[in-house]
Amino acid sequence: MRRVAVFGSTGSVGVSTLDLLARRPDLRVAVLTGGRNVALLARQAVLHGAELAVTAHEECYRPLKEALAGTGIAVAGGPAAVVEAGYVPADWAMSAIVGAAGLAPGFAALSQGKVLALANKESLVTAGPLLLAEARAQGATILPVDSEHSAVFQALRHEDMAAVETVTLTASGGGLRDWPIERLAHATPDEAGRHPNWDMGQRITIDSASMFNKAMEVIEAHEFFGLAPEQVAVLIHPQSLVHALVAFRDGAVMAHLGAPDMRHPIGFALNWPHRADLPVARLDLARAGRLDFSQPDLVRYPALALAQQVMRTGGAAGCVFNAAKEIALDHFIARNIGFLDMAAVVESVLERFDGLSRAPQSLAEVLAIDAEARAQANRVAQARAGKH
Ligand code: NAD
Ligand code: MG
Repeated sequence: MRRVAVFGSTGSVGVSTLDLLARRPDLRVAVLTGGRNVALLARQAVLHGAELAVTAHEECYRPLKEALAGTGIAVAGGPAAVVEAGYVPADWAMSAIVGAAGLAPGFAALSQGKVLALANKESLVTAGPLLLAEARAQGATILPVDSEHSAVFQALRHEDMAAVETVTLTASGGGLRDWPIERLAHATPDEAGRHPNWDMGQRITIDSASMFNKAMEVIEAHEFFGLAPEQVAVLIHPQSLVHALVAFRDGAVMAHLGAPDMRHPIGFALNWPHRADLPVARLDLARAGRLDFSQPDLVRYPALALAQQVMRTGGAAGCVFNAAKEIALDHFIARNIGFLDMAAVVESVLERFDGLSRAPQSLAEVLAIDAEARAQANRVAQARAGKH
């Protein structure tokens, strides 16, 4: 029986993954990992008959152990236990932990030489070349699960990369798309945390409003598909029905369309290399009526300009960008800094970071750069706090 592991099973992507797994009695759930939501993790572990349930927090180990007492499900706790779980044999693993914490478990899961379904975008942004090299060394396959990247991957099936001119990722523009630009500085976390089309976690929804999410995805596409910075474009597409477009040298453009539901890219990765039935809404273009596209304004979305800078710099820039972005987002959610301050914090850290263009050579180096960038971002954000 094929065995699967889900890292970050209690999150938005994790829950969607388990929704699909619940319909697949042919797959065995070996590992589930979560964070502080012990009750949900325990429920999932029982429902799916998991062999091992892991919480990332040591203080949650005991409550999880108690919740699963008498079930025969093994329990572990702490960050190291999450990474260890990556070495439990599994044919398919979903990397859906949020943030840089998802990096090490993903690396560990590659050791199986099987399939890693990658939702955690921080992995490619912070350590793309290392992760891809590890997959090659282990003979493992990484399948992108971010909807836009799954769309590009699907459009590129049976195509020659040398024939690709550009890849365009679409962006809804987020919850503040129609706000006058002067108002953006005063946007609250609640306002930025509402998404018109996608139902996602709070952090990624705010990142959609600021386009930091799209900036991450641009870097992700650059890393995963080996595209030059000028080959990756972004178009605002409020309906979120076209997920990505690939333009070829002969003028043909392949677009991927579908209802916005993460169960499509997750299910594609689960069924790969085949296609099978998925419980997603069918696209009804007549009902949609129209598809709109426009060029994003780099003044409104400075994160997109920063992504270009990061790709051109290479080296440690992706790692520094992601770490600074995560800290800036923490400070925005805590209402220490304003919505537009997030980009200013990231820009300032990128400007001053020592050895930005030097590529990290190991996961340990990535984590050290990540920690240093976080410390710097905290200092910059604190200096701005209260000024907005
Ligand atoms: P989420 O916040 O809903 O869930 C995150 C999961 O990670 C939870 O299970 C949580 O317990 C776990 N987690 C959090 N901190 C952890 C830590 N320090 N150590 C171990 N586990 C930890 O996030 P999400 O929206 O499901 O997104 C997960 C990843 O997928 C992110 O990288 C996100 O950018 C990416 N992604 C999400 C979507 C989406 O629709 N939500 C789409 C594309 C890509
Ligand atoms: Mg996406």
